[in-house]
Amino acid sequence: MRRLSITTPVRIPRADHNISRSRLSRAALHTLYGLKDAGYDALLVGGSVRDLLLGLDPKDFDVATNALPEEVKDVFKRSRLIGRRFRLAHVRLGPEVIEVATFRSAPRTPDESDIEDEDNGTEDTDNGAGGDAAHVLDDSGRILRDNVYGSLEEDAFRRDFTVNALYYDIRDFAVVDYVGGIEDLQARRLRLIGDPATRYREDPVRMLRAVRFASKLGFTIDESACAPIHELKHLLVDVPPARLFEECLKLFLNADAEANFDGLQHYGLFEQMFPQVADGLDSEAGELAERLIRLALRSTAERVRADKSVTPGFLFAAFFWLPVEVRAQALAAEGMPRAQALAAACDQVMSEQSSRVAIPRRFSGMQADIWHMQVRFEARRGKRPFRLMEHKRFRAAYDFLLLRAEAGDAPQELADWWTRFQEVSDEERQEMAQSAPGQEGGGGRRRRRRRRR
Ligand code: ATP
Ligand code: MG
Repeated sequence: MRRLSITTPVRIPRADHNISRSRLSRAALHTLYGLKDAGYDALLVGGSVRDLLLGLDPKDFDVATNALPEEVKDVFKRSRLIGRRFRLAHVRLGPEVIEVATFRSAPRTPDESDIEDEDNGTEDTDNGAGGDAAHVLDDSGRILRDNVYGSLEEDAFRRDFTVNALYYDIRDFAVVDYVGGIEDLQARRLRLIGDPATRYREDPVRMLRAVRFASKLGFTIDESACAPIHELKHLLVDVPPARLFEECLKLFLNADAEANFDGLQHYGLFEQMFPQVADGLDSEAGELAERLIRLALRSTAERVRADKSVTPGFLFAAFFWLPVEVRAQALAAEGMPRAQALAAACDQVMSEQSSRVAIPRRFSGMQADIWHMQVRFEARRGKRPFRLMEHKRFRAAYDFLLLRAEAGDAPQELADWWTRFQEVSDEERQEMAQSAPGQEGGGGRRRRRRRRR
């Protein structure tokens, strides 16, 4: 909310808070001092201030300033301007990048806009929807454009949660609080700045952010911020699917992936983003699907904690396994060969999904590979298992088979067979492939042609 009156912020002097400069990265200090020495305001803001006050290690450092992006660029040789919707400067030092944003303002509330319209007798000519001349809102109140510079105070009020709107001023090392963020931090509470329903309408992704910060910080979502979600959750449908995908990565490729899944389900947000998956979870086979999804979320979270690589392709393979299976079975019942039915089901389900959360091709392609290989795992005789093992996605597909077995969706014996098949000597492997149960693959007829490994 843009403030019409001036608010006096609470300034907490260095002696009364725990943020020490030694906790800031070199690049953050370089950026803050560079701006300050050039005569600009320079403050750390957002997640880094919040996390430092909580004694956590910030993931990254964001800086807010009254310098315009071009002026930031003039101060730092190694910086770049980025962003179309709003321009930001990226300042580099070594491998680190600091995001520097010029103070911006938020749209006025509809009431405030009305008053102004009456005063000067003009309509908002920009688009006929809500907002003021510079901020463009759509019919539901969603911000379409808000690249409007403002004061530090306005910058604080445009942020989402009070605990995300705290600043650390490099001039005197004070923490600056316009919105009661310190109090909420102490109460471990997520409270939106301004009227919650208006703030969710402006940007429905804030509902997802509430869930994410609650699990990350172990905070409770204030009743005022919980209450409107039920009525506004459907607004997520208007958020660009590519942005929701980015948000899903933050939610699920994360150490708190399972808690986020629970939170999204609790508020009915999950079904807005993944309607087919949600329908599956409500169906007869739902329990099994849920076990599989939870196992995938847990294994992703464990890998994140252990600093191992994670891919959304694997996770989404678990999400969509049931909807795709159901669709494939229906197509197979109509007489389509199994492999073809699976491919068609995969295309149908993923194209329906793309209007909500758009999963880029490289990941949905990985999902398709993982699913196809589940069928191929069953043919263990002859040359087929050797060929399968050479597939570039074998490891991911095999890991997925293990999850399915654990969830009770595939025979444990099948999973164990594949585990052993990878561990034993070449000779034993040949024996395994000769005596394996199940149908003989196409390779069976040509079994005598020895395959080199
Ligand atoms: P994280 O630890 O996940 O990085 P963060 O608080 O730094 O948490 P970012 O997404 O990096 O979150 O955003 C930085 C800051 O920008 C936030 O702390 C908040 O002040 C502001 N912000 C980000 N997204 C929004 C939004 N959708 N609406 C309002 N303010 C936002
Ligand atoms: Mg951040």
